[in-house]
Amino acid sequence: MLILVVNAGSSSLKYQLLDMKDESVIAKGNCDRIGIDGHLSHKVPAKGIKIEQECSFPTHTEAFEKLVEVLTTGENAVIKSMAEIGAVGHRIVQGAEFFDKACLVTDEIIDKIDELRELAPVHNHAHALALRACKKVLPETTPMVVVFDTAFHQTMPPKAYLYGLPYEDYKKYHVRKYGFHGTSHRFVSAAIARAMGKDPKDLKIVSCHLGNGSSITAVDGGKSVDTSMGFTPLDGLVMGTRCGSVDPSAVTYVMDKHGFTPSQMSEYMNKKSGFLGLSGVSSDNRDICAAVEKGDKRAIITSDILQYDIKKFIGSYAAVMNGLDAVLFTGGIGENSWEVRGAVCKDMDFFGIKIDEELNKEVKGTLKKISTADSKVEVWVVPTNEELLIARDTLELVEHK
Ligand code: ADP
Repeated sequence: MLILVVNAGSSSLKYQLLDMKDESVIAKGNCDRIGIDGHLSHKVPAKGIKIEQECSFPTHTEAFEKLVEVLTTGENAVIKSMAEIGAVGHRIVQGAEFFDKACLVTDEIIDKIDELRELAPVHNHAHALALRACKKVLPETTPMVVVFDTAFHQTMPPKAYLYGLPYEDYKKYHVRKYGFHGTSHRFVSAAIARAMGKDPKDLKIVSCHLGNGSSITAVDGGKSVDTSMGFTPLDGLVMGTRCGSVDPSAVTYVMDKHGFTPSQMSEYMNKKSGFLGLSGVSSDNRDICAAVEKGDKRAIITSDILQYDIKKFIGSYAAVMNGLDAVLFTGGIGENSWEVRGAVCKDMDFFGIKIDEELNKEVKGTLKKISTADSKVEVWVVPTNEELLIARDTLELVEHK
């Protein structure tokens, strides 16, 4: 079966068309700058085709129409019609407490996702727009499935997800920790269990997804029991442009000093903080590492903060799970940055973590154990593939509906 995976944001629509026979990617790309002007980047990996095109995408509908055109027409077409696509899987950021697993899409489900927009202002409304636009270009019989970033974390106990705020506001306004990157944490924690030859039920794993957005999850027996992101993906670790955890009083203090409105403060914490705000160099880890090499003081403190934060999460999650079998690194930084992995795992012998420094330096984006043979805790680099897991979930749901 061919499955189209869609990851829609407010101004972009990323997609992958997969052949589930061998889980290969037939085509992938991005309809970008929706609502601004429009740009298509499209690739057909097997044929080495790369297309870049200026377009007009006033809304998600035009972007989907372009996607249909590029997949089905011209010399680079990969299918004859959209009817060849067996199902479409959509990534949804916020499922709150309503969705603890993937499900088939109905009009009511789209409305519910849209209703949750208050909890994910940047994402959920865009997802709903994309779902409605996608429905328009698909044959009526093609099923759609939604896969939620938050679903994997719905197994967290109340002691992990409740804040010390009045309980009435949890009930009334749904203020609690939801956690994100769930699809990635689910994918990589299952992959490491397979690689270790163990049943996920027998493993206590700390999964470190480190990218532009970063989160760490404690996975005990295959289930998320705690995670570093919270009510929104702003919480936890310091990230590319996001501040991570700060004392809430610092937020109101800064708002007062700058005279910020809530949305200005949100922009400040989401777009101007993190590596970028701390270092003044860049939001990109590669630039931070290069600046560290040159002895840039602010870059050094930025990278120290990241490594320190990660260490603290590993330690606290080992305590929470009363044990630790494996630590895994994934995401752009986790998969590629030996510097970050090396610094995090240094001086962790108290936990029984020892990595092979030479091996660590060699591993980039491949599934590989980087701990030494006598390390009590295994340390792995595990490439993530959220699109593939969305496609697998979609296939399973449509085959068993
Ligand atoms: P997103 O969260 O947007 O999906 P990614 O998972 O692609 O982001 O991660 C982007 C981050 O990964 C950037 O900070 C980038 O610098 C870092 N990164 C990517 N490749 C490397 C590399 N070879 N070495 C160090 N860091 C890298």
